[in-house]
Amino acid sequence: MKRYICILLLIFLLFGSTDVFAWGQKGHDIVTCIAEKHLTRKARKNLNAILDGKSLMYYSSWMDNVQNSPYWKDGYDRTKTWHYFNVDEGFTPQTMSRNPKGDVLSAMNMLIDSLENHSNELSDSVKIDYLRMLIHLVGDMHCPMHVGRLSDRGGNELHIKWFKQNTNLHALWDSKLIESVHSWSYTEWQQNLDHCTKAEFKEISAGTPEDWLNETWKVTCGIYDYVKPDENYSYKYMYDYAPVVEHQLLVAGYRLAALLNRIFG
Ligand SMILES: [Zn+2]
Repeated sequence: MKRYICILLLIFLLFGSTDVFAWGQKGHDIVTCIAEKHLTRKARKNLNAILDGKSLMYYSSWMDNVQNSPYWKDGYDRTKTWHYFNVDEGFTPQTMSRNPKGDVLSAMNMLIDSLENHSNELSDSVKIDYLRMLIHLVGDMHCPMHVGRLSDRGGNELHIKWFKQNTNLHALWDSKLIESVHSWSYTEWQQNLDHCTKAEFKEISAGTPEDWLNETWKVTCGIYDYVKPDENYSYKYMYDYAPVVEHQLLVAGYRLAALLNRIFG
């Protein structure tokens, strides 16, 4: 039994650390849980056929897992840069030079175009891959540190303290803040946030992925203005930013649902 626990602990230490380029699992689960509640019947039926009846939540972090898995890595190396879009100080998403290896905006546009306009040309395995990627990337695009600066690798090199524990700005926004502001399950997050009217849903889910990226970037700029390297943050930061985390997760969920309804509905 002791040996079994040691093996489990080792597995956790090796693979359980937070990925540096993703909302944590919780964030993605919340986004997909919200989206799931707003799928049309027809979209759900078509998604069931592709996802073999599995929920959006089931695949919410698949894209992070696949790129970090030694067994699956080869075919997915090209997707490593697809989770983020760096914008340095003094630039905007429009003036910053794009990563030639791809970014979250080019990836999302490619996935949407392929699934929406060229679905007949895709094999079943490519179709499910593209869908699982889209499910994940709509979430990532709304995570502020995924539109962070190249100079500090999206906040990964901006070291701060969170309740006196060493961390960095990226990790804070990927998971520590979500885990701190509410100790809810993803369904409780959905139940507590998801109260918009149909008109509000329509307004939030309007626009293009580029518009959504610009919105996230503005949030990110505010976060950089607020933070000072090596500073300790705790309750005040949580109070100030809880509504922002909640907003980003909610709008990501609505936009994912609207996209899937448009493509598969
Ligand atoms: Zn990611």
